[in-house]
Amino acid sequence: MKNIPNQIAMDGTAASGKTTVGKIVAEKLGYLFFDTGIMYRVAAYGAYQKLHDISDEKKVSEVVESMDIALENDTVNGVTNVLLDGQNITDRLHLPEVDKIVSTVAAYPAVRAALTMQQRKIGLRGRVVMVGRDIGTVVMPDAEMKIYLEASPETRAKRRYQENLSKHIESETYEMILADIIKRDKNDRERTVAPLRPADDAVIIHTDEYTAAEVAEQIFALMD
Ligand code: C5P
Repeated sequence: MKNIPNQIAMDGTAASGKTTVGKIVAEKLGYLFFDTGIMYRVAAYGAYQKLHDISDEKKVSEVVESMDIALENDTVNGVTNVLLDGQNITDRLHLPEVDKIVSTVAAYPAVRAALTMQQRKIGLRGRVVMVGRDIGTVVMPDAEMKIYLEASPETRAKRRYQENLSKHIESETYEMILADIIKRDKNDRERTVAPLRPADDAVIIHTDEYTAAEVAEQIFALMD
């Protein structure tokens, strides 16, 4: 690999494999892997816990702006724990309840402004693989490498369903996951601020036929 980019922006639809692929790429390069989806999930979870309703944009934004979020590396188990106001909420962030509300909270401009600012600071440090929906377009528009992952809703729902089973989350059927993915993509694409779309200079990779390791190989091939 000769041309290793300092900032790698990776965007794509829900469950398109961004996290799995991004982690492989970051690990091989010795870069920081940063999943911005987690931040929106913390915002949604925290706002729901406090307000029990996320329809009031002003109230939700105030809650998000005042949140105390800390990331703690658990070197023993190799995971990053997310602490919200001191409470470890890591295992709550991918619950179906959060999947259902996160794109509504993520569409609120003040929520995006607060989180985008933090993401930019992390991006500026460099040697980073950052994944999300608007990384190549808004958060790191100058990233040297931009990847956009795509796969059919059915492939993505199948992958998420298998992933849930492996984590013993069995409350949702394949059909429910598929419906959620389609709805979330629609919300993310149609919002006014920072909608989901590939940057003009992004390389689009269709992942239906490939494993995460194969997609990572395609990305490394772009660095030759
Ligand atoms: O990537 P993940 O599925 O965890 O993201 C959860 C949600 O967070 C997305 O559906 C989207 O609404 C929001 N998000 C966003 N911008 C990002 C990352 C995530 O709007 N950069």
